[in-house]
Amino acid sequence: MNPSLRARMRQDTIAVHAGHAPDPTTGAVAESLHLSTTFLRAEDGSYPSGYKYSRERAPNRAALETALAALDGGADAAAFASGQAAVAAVFQGLAPGDHVICPSAVYYGTRKLLAEVFGPWGLEFSVVDTADLASVQAALRPRTTLLWVETPSNPTLAVTDIRAMADLAHGIGARLVVDNTWSTAVGQLALSLGADLVMYSTTKYYGGHSDTLSGALVTARADAAWERIRLIQSSVGAVAAPFDCWLVHRGIASLPVRLRQHTHNAARVAAFLAGHDGVEVAHYPGLPSHPGHAIAQRQMRLFGGMVSFQPRGDAAHALAVAARLRIFTRATSLGGVESLAEHRKSIEGPESPTPDNLLRLSIGLEDADDLIDDLRQALG
Ligand SMILES: *Cc1c(COP(=O)(O)O)cnc(C)c1O
Repeated sequence: MNPSLRARMRQDTIAVHAGHAPDPTTGAVAESLHLSTTFLRAEDGSYPSGYKYSRERAPNRAALETALAALDGGADAAAFASGQAAVAAVFQGLAPGDHVICPSAVYYGTRKLLAEVFGPWGLEFSVVDTADLASVQAALRPRTTLLWVETPSNPTLAVTDIRAMADLAHGIGARLVVDNTWSTAVGQLALSLGADLVMYSTTKYYGGHSDTLSGALVTARADAAWERIRLIQSSVGAVAAPFDCWLVHRGIASLPVRLRQHTHNAARVAAFLAGHDGVEVAHYPGLPSHPGHAIAQRQMRLFGGMVSFQPRGDAAHALAVAARLRIFTRATSLGGVESLAEHRKSIEGPESPTPDNLLRLSIGLEDADDLIDDLRQALG
């Protein structure tokens, strides 16, 4: 596509077109799936297609990476075999002795990677409430090279001020990474708020149908730190497979439309829960009662499709509410077309700081009234 046309396109148009072009040999309009691991060399030994071997670079992955970078307004993107492989690539790019700020409200797998894999390997880290800037400031060390932020966070939807964290990071020559899985580039443009790197579990909203495991990083600049991540991607080889790339790329086309409907439904469900006598508290950044609402209003374009809530009572009561749900499926994960409900503490384990009675909802694309009816009967 003509670069000046690309530069003027709006995000919905980018989502449909970025990385797509009719196949020059067959004229196929829909993207073809390329399973070949190896690519033809010319007589002079060069690689005329730009591809050599699929661990390094492959057609469906290159197309997806183009779309991922364009959607976030980034310089480049890299697709991985899972969200966790993308997180690991960021930490693998650091040196032993480097210090990382990790939010207390974070995907439990990120904290587990730091504690059980990268801690023993020599990475230092502090777990800090990133919603409180003074605590972050107090935790900075001479070798702090990376600040990690997840906003809204899993599972309590805590909101962190991305711009303020970027300023803190850049003030000490560190970089800011935002796990933007819950919001997506449609809900929040973290690079435009000062983040250096954005991480996604594309397993979730990007794929959008609970049938692909994959992850991605998008960078603001193609600098030396990014070159190192590219080196890790191709030499470690935790790359996304062609079919996963194809599925996520296809998912991106409908991502803006899906996220708007997820958000519309989630706002309805959150308002219902917040007003229900059997609910102690509902967590959703779009609720005026949410402690991070003002910051969320400033930095988010859509409040997203994730809601969590605490029914009045103990863990057993929360599990009983989940057991009575008929339209929501009891399962982990998020971002698919179907609504899911999960008692979070029992998957995260006894060490988890998640409240005992918290239920996490991934709000799907069903009619919001049916979801509300289901929750009403389950709450009793
Ligand atoms: C699911 C998730 C991850 C991990 O991604 P996988 O694709 O499961 O490896 C990381 N961060 C957040 C916020 C997630 O929801």
